[in-house]
Amino acid sequence: MSILLQPLKCSACGAPLKAKERDRMLLCSHCGTLSLVTAGKTAPVNFAIAAPAIESRDALVYIPFWIVNAEVSVTHEKISGGGISRMVSGQKQMRGVRDFYICAADAVPEEYARVWNMELTLKQPEIKTVPDFAGSERVVMTMEQETAGENAEFIFLRYEAEIPGTLQELDYEFRVNSTKVLYLPAYKKSTSYQLGV
Ligand SMILES: [Zn+2]
Repeated sequence: MSILLQPLKCSACGAPLKAKERDRMLLCSHCGTLSLVTAGKTAPVNFAIAAPAIESRDALVYIPFWIVNAEVSVTHEKISGGGISRMVSGQKQMRGVRDFYICAADAVPEEYARVWNMELTLKQPEIKTVPDFAGSERVVMTMEQETAGENAEFIFLRYEAEIPGTLQELDYEFRVNSTKVLYLPAYKKSTSYQLGV
């Protein structure tokens, strides 16, 4: 098999881009635009950088998340045992339209990513943005866009399964409206992370 390597170019200004190992987001040093790399080609991508909402002495890094805006509608469900507690528990429903937060960096340990994805998706935090990374580390984005959509659906199913009561049947529709990239600030101390939003 032979692979033809095309030089990567900024999707906004056309300047040549240097590929950082495995990073799916490439920053143009000429115009500051981030491009998404898919199958060896760059494309424009909707992205934002969230402002840190807390302060810390630890190192500030920016972790890439895929934000999957999706609509979930449940058309049929059957629950046994605890069906009532499921209804009166007051637990938030993960239905309707919302942003699903999917941590897109391999470098972040799974135990953090799992918790963040669920908590942020439930909480739907208010995000203020900043124009750039201001010299802070941008963590390498490893996850493909397609995988993010699958993971979003997974979060919904995991959540449904965790509500008290045994879920026996669930018919639902999961429709992705849009996908974008959001960098969230986090403070890193050796191998532990604290999210800064
Ligand atoms: Zn550029």
